[in-house]
Amino acid sequence: MNIIFGPVNSRRFGISLGIDLSPALKQCNFDCLYCELAPSATVSHQTETITVDAIIQALQEAFKQHDNIDVITITANGEPTLYPHLRELIREIDAIKANKKTLILTNSATLSDSEVFQTLLSLDQVKLSLDAITPEVFKKIDRPDDGIEIDNIAEAVKAFSKAFTGRLFIEVLFVHGLNDTTEEIKALNSVLLDVEAERIDIGTIDRPPAYPVEAITHKELHHIAMEFDSSLPIHIASRHKAGASPSSYSKEEILNTLDKRPLTTDDIDLLFDEASKRGLQSLLAEGSITKKERSGIIFYIPRDNAQRKRKKT
Ligand code: SF4
Repeated sequence: MNIIFGPVNSRRFGISLGIDLSPALKQCNFDCLYCELAPSATVSHQTETITVDAIIQALQEAFKQHDNIDVITITANGEPTLYPHLRELIREIDAIKANKKTLILTNSATLSDSEVFQTLLSLDQVKLSLDAITPEVFKKIDRPDDGIEIDNIAEAVKAFSKAFTGRLFIEVLFVHGLNDTTEEIKALNSVLLDVEAERIDIGTIDRPPAYPVEAITHKELHHIAMEFDSSLPIHIASRHKAGASPSSYSKEEILNTLDKRPLTTDDIDLLFDEASKRGLQSLLAEGSITKKERSGIIFYIPRDNAQRKRKKT
C-alpha cells in the first residue's frame, strides 16, 4: 500500500510530495465525468481508513529520499476530506514539515460541515474545486453523492474564502458541452465575485477521463477567460513550470507515481534524473508502462491502470 507518491511537478504548486489518504481504493463523494481515476460509486464517508502514524512514518521516509520538496499535498484516491482523522494528521504534519507548505486539494463538498471547515483553516494552502453553479450542470459533471447540493457548497466556499488566512486557490474545470455555456459561466462569475481567492485556475481535461467526455480547446478556454469579470484573478492553467530540479526514482516509485498521476514527457524531463529516465525506458520495454495520447499530449501510464480505465465507457 503506497501512501506517499511523487514528487510530481504540480502545474500550479511546484514540486509536490503527495499523501494519498485512501491508498487501497477510490473513496469519493463525487464521481466526476472527467476524473483521472477509474469510475466508482460515491460514498459519504471512508470505510477503509489508514492510521495517522502510518502516514507520518511514510512521510518521514520520503523526506529522507527527496530534499527538494516545496509542498506536501494532501489528496486521495477520491476526496481527502472524507478522511476521519484529518485534523490530527495536519497537526502531526505541521510538527515535521519545516519550511514546506501544506496544501489540500478538495472538491469542496464537505466544506459545509463545520468540522471540515475549521480543519481546513489550519492549512497553508487550500485549493477548492467548483465546476458549476446551476444544480443541473453540477449534478451532470460531478455526479455527487445523495444530499450534496451545490447551493450549500457555493455558500461554504464564499464563507471559507473570507475566514481563511492562507493562500486560497479555486479551480474550475471545463468539459465540452456541459459547463462551457454562457449561462453557466455567468453563474460561476456571479459566485466567484463573492469569493476572496488568490487565483482562479481555469482548465480543461488534460488527462484520460473516467468517462467519455471531451476537453474544450485552448482557444475556447481563452474565450471563457474573457467572459469572466476583469476583476477576477483568472489564470489559464498551464502544465509547464521552469526551474524544477530532477529527482531519483526507483522503478517501484515510477510505477507508483504514474499510477496516481499519469505524467507527460515534459513532466518526466523536469522531474526525473538520467538514471530514472533509463528506469522508465526499461519499464516501457518490458511492458509494465504504456503510452497514451490525449489531446496531442503523450502520457505514461502503468499498463494495468490504462486497461482498467478503458473498460468503462
Ligand atoms: S475528480 Fe476528484 S472529486 Fe471528482 S470523482 Fe475524481 S477524485 Fe472525486
